[in-house]
Amino acid sequence: MTQAGERRTRQRESILRAIADAGAPVVPREILSRAQTKLKGLGLATVYRTLKLLAESGVVRVVEIPGDPPRYELADKAHHHHFSCRLCACVYEVPGCCGHFEEHLPPGFRLESHEVILFGICKRCADARQARESTGMRSESSRAARKRKTGRRG
Ligand SMILES: [Zn+2]
Ligand SMILES: [Zn+2]
Repeated sequence: MTQAGERRTRQRESILRAIADAGAPVVPREILSRAQTKLKGLGLATVYRTLKLLAESGVVRVVEIPGDPPRYELADKAHHHHFSCRLCACVYEVPGCCGHFEEHLPPGFRLESHEVILFGICKRCADARQARESTGMRSESSRAARKRKTGRRG
């Protein structure tokens, strides 16, 4: 193999490893920062070019979340769907499928494929929100306690 060919193979492998390690669909910038730790000198243009080739050859799949830049995942994964957190914009993999979409089709229609994206708040954001709310409540109740004290005095 030529030196350029070897380099391309290494780039391709480090990009595929970065996508696999992410465990969820990732944007090119995140792929770059993950792959850079293994392959110094890798640039965003190379990541884009390699992703395009990998998508064309069916090794990776593009995951489109409305309003987000395209994300990439390995194409050989079992059928699954995605969850998009509306607070941190992270995308998570949701294993399995509720299926049975045929039942909702008008008579005579044939289903070929489907896409399901779940939107909501991820656990990390929900926990952070709850922590914020409970500290908010604590300071609220201490303010109320101070008020009561002043009230007693006056
Ligand atoms: Zn979140
Ligand atoms: Zn499904």
